[in-house]
Amino acid sequence: NVENVSFAYEEDNQTLENVSLTVARGEFVGLVGPSGSGKSTIASLLARLYDPDEGAITADGTDIRDFPVRAWRERVALVRQSPYLFDDTLRANVAMDRDLSETGLREVASLARVTEFLSDLPSGFDTRLGDDGVKLSGGQRQRVALARALVSDPDLLVLDEATSDLDPRLDEVIHRGLRDLDADLAVVTIA
Ligand code: ADP
Ligand code: MG
Repeated sequence: NVENVSFAYEEDNQTLENVSLTVARGEFVGLVGPSGSGKSTIASLLARLYDPDEGAITADGTDIRDFPVRAWRERVALVRQSPYLFDDTLRANVAMDRDLSETGLREVASLARVTEFLSDLPSGFDTRLGDDGVKLSGGQRQRVALARALVSDPDLLVLDEATSDLDPRLDEVIHRGLRDLDADLAVVTIA
């Protein structure tokens, strides 16, 4: 729950004023609005990159500031529009530092439709990406980032224009897959 939240990056320039919204478990919520209206700011507050100046964000009745930051960030996955890929393998870019079995890797890669371009890569999951490796398209990078977000099995997934470079059909397939994945997963999609 976002409850009457106000937030400003700098004085005299209120970015969010008295914003409230509710996302229930298993619910998909879309946020739309003009550029600069504060959608990405809401995404940042949900991931607790910032705290609200006024109001509160709660989860099951508890202010998220009452959880250890790390515990909260394990429950929320935020995917932005232009994700960063490291100079490492596809496998490492998805797993990051977490334990991930081969089965787990295939599962998230399939959900995020990374598998659709896997056979175009010279060494599959062991292909190096990043500045020193294979250059992926914007849509491919976004799919890697989505797979990365799914590894932590979040309760809340925030997609901040995270599928903007995918064609609408693929976007829909991915969203449908997320719905079928976990009946309790809440998703906030910013278009
Ligand atoms: P949206 O995602 O809807 O386009 P944003 O949340 O990115 O909107 O931005 C909302 C407002 O906050 C804009 O006026 C933007 O310039 C400002 N803003 C965003 N990020 C920062 C920041 N890190 N520091 C200062 N101002 C910011
Ligand atoms: Mg934005």
